[in-house]
Amino acid sequence: MTTDFDLVIRGGTVVSADRATRQDLGIRAGQVVAAGTGLSPGRREVDATGLVVLPGLVDVHVHLREPGMTRKEDFRSGTRAAAAGGVTTVVDMPNTLPPVATAAGFTEKLALVAPKAHVDFGLYGMLGQDNADEIAALAAAGAMGLKLFMGQTTGDNPCPDDGAIHAGLRAAAAAGLVVGVHAENDALLRRLGRELRASGRTDPRAHLACRPAVVEVEAVTRIITLASDAGAQLHIHHLSTAAGLDRVRLMRMLGHRLTVEVLVAHLLLDDSAYDRHGNLVKLNPPIRPATDVAALWQGIAAGDVDLIATDHAPHTADEQAETDVWAAHGGFIGVETMLPLLLTEVHRGRLSLPDLVRLCCHTPARTWRIDDRKGHLGIGADADLVLVDPTAAGEVDPGHLHSRHPVTPYAGWPTVGAVRATYLRGELIAEDGRAVGDPTGRQLTPRPLPGGDDLARSDQETGPTGTASGSAGTGPRTGDAASPGRAGLPTPLVSA
Ligand SMILES: [Zn+2]
Repeated sequence: MTTDFDLVIRGGTVVSADRATRQDLGIRAGQVVAAGTGLSPGRREVDATGLVVLPGLVDVHVHLREPGMTRKEDFRSGTRAAAAGGVTTVVDMPNTLPPVATAAGFTEKLALVAPKAHVDFGLYGMLGQDNADEIAALAAAGAMGLKLFMGQTTGDNPCPDDGAIHAGLRAAAAAGLVVGVHAENDALLRRLGRELRASGRTDPRAHLACRPAVVEVEAVTRIITLASDAGAQLHIHHLSTAAGLDRVRLMRMLGHRLTVEVLVAHLLLDDSAYDRHGNLVKLNPPIRPATDVAALWQGIAAGDVDLIATDHAPHTADEQAETDVWAAHGGFIGVETMLPLLLTEVHRGRLSLPDLVRLCCHTPARTWRIDDRKGHLGIGADADLVLVDPTAAGEVDPGHLHSRHPVTPYAGWPTVGAVRATYLRGELIAEDGRAVGDPTGRQLTPRPLPGGDDLARSDQETGPTGTASGSAGTGPRTGDAASPGRAGLPTPLVSA
């Protein structure tokens, strides 16, 4: 049996969420089947001596713009960018045209995008004003989770009122879907925006001025309160302020459970970026002052931040050049640059490689319940892996990026650490910064919840599953997936 590997990745430093170990990986039928030293030869051999072997990154926050906005990006270009950047799983947001608010719409989108996917993917449905009755059907159709926009963003997606939010949260809890939230107070940011406009402000920083920390803090407090009452598993997308993080700590002390995401952009850029890049760095929530950036890094060090994502949000080059802040679009690309930029932070000593794996692979996969196959390189995991040269110095070159409009504030950003190759289920999908091969990405759906007698779906078996720790009686929140910090992380399945 041990001579029967399709592929052996030999001599690399394999990184899990808690250690980095020099070992070989044996791969058969797209899965990791052996790990150790001196594995017998495989039909294909890759010499990874001197390289770092990471699980493929899991980016739970991308906007690939299909259907309806393919002038900005499409599933092919966006997933090729992911492959080249070492991201082997993406979860795509539902604020497309039309928004994904019904099971029928979900199924249509799936049929449209699946043949174009170069990496594995999940699709979110929307938690909107009028679709609480659709949520069970969205889950049955294979939604990875739900996205709730409390604050205005790209697309025509009116923010639901608190009654609709609570109804949607209850339906999500019953269906076992994670609810990810864009937590900004819509009425407040709109009012402040009108006041700034009336005062004649048109500069890029006016965007920051109309979304002060209170816009986030209020929404975070409200959604944690509502989600806890509804019993829903809550994830806060792109938390951006020191005050917002303080509020999360306070709510956790009161017993509320949730996961918190920060963006690469909020970790690497501060408000001086408005002077250099203008409206290109308009982002919702905004790029913040350096004190907030420092607080997010502290939150990572303290274990208060659970994961990192990109909010890859492409627009056309013309749209990104808009000079009127009120007409400019929010967001910019990021899925292809995430790993080189974070490896650079590893080189600078702000993260360890196991931290990177925990924040970008392990915890995202566990939170959305795909960690039986994704987010680690233990026995039985999909052989989604990234070979990284940790010492290669370079810079971000927009000319090499795969997005339709490679406009990025990171152009020319010096990097240390480069993606040499990306494998999806044991097959090469990118090499030295170029996506290769035909699209072979598959749809991912969350594993059914273990236990939980308040689940509406009757076809779910109870009992121990994967790494979810015992959480019977706590409702649909999945064990330690929703607990803060590093404590209680399950032991990765990497064998010696
Ligand atoms: Zn987003």
